[in-house]
Amino acid sequence: MSPDTIKAPRGTYDVLPGQSVARAALEARARAILEGAGYERIETPAFEHTDLFARGVGASTDIVQKEMYTLTDGSGRSLTLRPEGTAPVCRAYLEHGMHKRPAPVKLWYLSSFFRYERAQAGRYRQFWQIGAEALGSDDPAVDAESIVLLCTLLAELGVGDVRLRLASLGDADSRSEYRERLQDYLQTHSDRLAPEVRDRIGANPLRAFDSQHEATRAVMADAPRLLDCLSAPDAEHFAAVRELLDAAEVRYEIDSTLVRGLDYYTRTVFELTSDALGAQSGVGGGGRYDRLVEVLGGPQTPAMGWAAGIERILIASGAADQQAPAAAVDLFVAFTEPHLRARAFALVQLARSAGLAAQMELAGRALKRQLGHADRLKARYVAILDDPQSVLKDMQSGRQEDVASDAIVHAVLRGLRDMV
Ligand code: ATP
Ligand code: MG
Repeated sequence: MSPDTIKAPRGTYDVLPGQSVARAALEARARAILEGAGYERIETPAFEHTDLFARGVGASTDIVQKEMYTLTDGSGRSLTLRPEGTAPVCRAYLEHGMHKRPAPVKLWYLSSFFRYERAQAGRYRQFWQIGAEALGSDDPAVDAESIVLLCTLLAELGVGDVRLRLASLGDADSRSEYRERLQDYLQTHSDRLAPEVRDRIGANPLRAFDSQHEATRAVMADAPRLLDCLSAPDAEHFAAVRELLDAAEVRYEIDSTLVRGLDYYTRTVFELTSDALGAQSGVGGGGRYDRLVEVLGGPQTPAMGWAAGIERILIASGAADQQAPAAAVDLFVAFTEPHLRARAFALVQLARSAGLAAQMELAGRALKRQLGHADRLKARYVAILDDPQSVLKDMQSGRQEDVASDAIVHAVLRGLRDMV
C-alpha cells in the first residue's frame, strides 16, 4: 500500500464479513429476550441538536465536557453525533406523544454512538450499544425487571465472571441534602484532592468517588455515603428493588461509591463488570432517571433503563475472535465459452427464485479454474453449461449427468430433497 492510502479514523473499526455473524447472533438473542418482555425496537437519528445532550446528559459530565463530536451544519445549527441513547429516546418519546400510551412504554435499541475518547482495546470513538428504556412508571418491579433482563442477556451470550453492583442515589431532595454534606466534607479535605476533583466540588461532587487519584481515594474512603442519607420513600423503593432481585436469585453487591457518569440518575443505579475483560471492565450499566423527561420539557415521567457495549460483550464472551463459517452454496454455474454467460446468468436468477443459494462464474476464469473456485466455495452442485448439452455434477458423490439447461434447477431441487 502506498503511504498516502487512506485508513479508517483512529478509534473506529470495520466489521469484516467473518465478524458479522457473531453480531447478528447477539442481535437475535437480544431481540428474543427484550421483545419477549414487551420491549419494542426504536431507532433515533445518528445526530441530534447539541442542546439535547447538553441538557439531557448534563453539563458537568465527561461526555458533555470533552467527549462529544459537535459540528455546525450549513445553516449554522449546532449538531452532535449521539454519544448515548437515553436522551434521544426520551426526546422521541415526547415528540411522538408516547407519554399518552399506557405505562410503562418499553423501548430498546441497538445503535452506534460516538465519543471522543482515548482509543484503546474495548474503547472506541464509534462504538455500539444495546439499550433498553422503560418510561412512565416508578414501580420497583420495573427496575428489577430491567436489571434482570440485562443479566439474562449477558448470561445467554456467554459473558463470564459478571459482577453486578447496585446502589440508590435517592431523589432530588435526599440528593441535594447529601450533596451539601459531601461538599462540606470535600471542602474540609480539599488540600488532598486531585485538582480536577477540587474544581468540580461545586458542579459535581459525586464524581469524586470515581477518581483514581490515590490521595483522593483515601479521602473518599471516609466520605459520607448517599446510601446512608436516603429519604424514607427512597430507602423503601431501594429495599423493594433488592427484594425482587433476591426473589429472582440475582446476585449483586451494594456499592455505596457507585456513581454513574450521567447527571440525570435518581434512585436505582447499577453497573455490570466482567473480570473476563481487562482494564475496560464495564460491560453495561444504567439506572432510574425520574427527572430527565421533565428536564427535556415534558411532563413528570419516571423512567428506568440501561445500555451495554457490544464490543465488550463480544470480547468477554469470546465471540470476537470466532470466525464465521462461509455461507452454503447449493449451485455454482460454470460455463465453457464466454458466449454462454447470458445463459448462465439467466439460470442463476431462475435458481434463486426457486429458493436455491446460487452463484456463477464472475471473474472470467477458464473452466478448470472455475471448477476450482466452485470447490473452494464448497458448492453442493456444479452446472457446467455447454453447447448444446450441459453437465450437472454432484460434488458430494462425484456423480455427473448430462442435463438440458432448463432441467438443471429441477434436478438440483430433487437432489437436495432426496438427501433429507
Ligand atoms: P466507561 O467507564 O468504560 O467509560 P461509561 O460509564 O462511559 O463506561 P456508559 O455511558 O454507561 O459507559 O455506557 C454503557 C456501556 O457502553 C459501557 O459499560 C461500555 O460497555 C460501553 N461503552 C461506553 N463507552 C465506550 C467506548 N468508548 N467504546 C466502547 N464501548 C463503550
Ligand atoms: Mg466513559
